[in-house]
Amino acid sequence: MGVQTVDMLKTEIPLDEESVVIPEDAKAGLVLVDIINGFCTVGAGNLAPTEPNRQISEMIEESAKLAELFCDNEWPVLAFLDSHHPGKLEHPYPPHCITGTDESNLVPALRWIETKPNVTIRRKDCYDGFIGSIQEDGSNTFVDWVKNNKIQVLLVVGICTDICVLDFVCSTLSAKNRGFLEPLEDVVVYSSGCATFDFPVSLARNTKDHLPHPQELMHHVGLYMAKGRGAKIAREVFFNTSKNL
Ligand SMILES: [Zn+2]
Repeated sequence: MGVQTVDMLKTEIPLDEESVVIPEDAKAGLVLVDIINGFCTVGAGNLAPTEPNRQISEMIEESAKLAELFCDNEWPVLAFLDSHHPGKLEHPYPPHCITGTDESNLVPALRWIETKPNVTIRRKDCYDGFIGSIQEDGSNTFVDWVKNNKIQVLLVVGICTDICVLDFVCSTLSAKNRGFLEPLEDVVVYSSGCATFDFPVSLARNTKDHLPHPQELMHHVGLYMAKGRGAKIAREVFFNTSKNL
């Protein structure tokens, strides 16, 4: 899709991004959605990029910076990792991120967070991290994480902006409105910390069952939809500490 067409479509659903300041006295939590090899590392699997991708590289860089800031301050981080059981498909996508493979592990730039005490890892076998947090006994890892850490501001980054990030944000905002996530007040989606995949219509036409997915447009649509549910879309995030993004 040409740049002009994307720009034209974006003017029909404009997105005002904000400069978000997280006050010093607010308890912030960082959610990393699926920043794993199977979606981010060139050639790592059926849904991985086939060549280096600027939007995905920037997302990893920005997310790693945030993870570092949160870990330095020992603030809570929750990482969702897409991890599917072999043979259990996720329509309409081909098999991906099978449990136990490196596809379902964090990208090299984030692998170090696994051993940090402030980091919770949650493997999920569905798009939506909120649903994927439901445990056998009915409890919810994400809800417990918000409550135990008394999180007031949730910062969300990851991939894909319009799929797993969006689904998680939508469920979280609905649960918040029902009073299940107190003391959570704000859900902030950091736009440069999010990315989606590129599958232009010219390629999709030649394949069965694959939906076209133009990257720039779908990233924008994902952010727009999240905003429509009540999320704040951040162009930049400032913390009332010495470090900023
Ligand atoms: Zn999946």
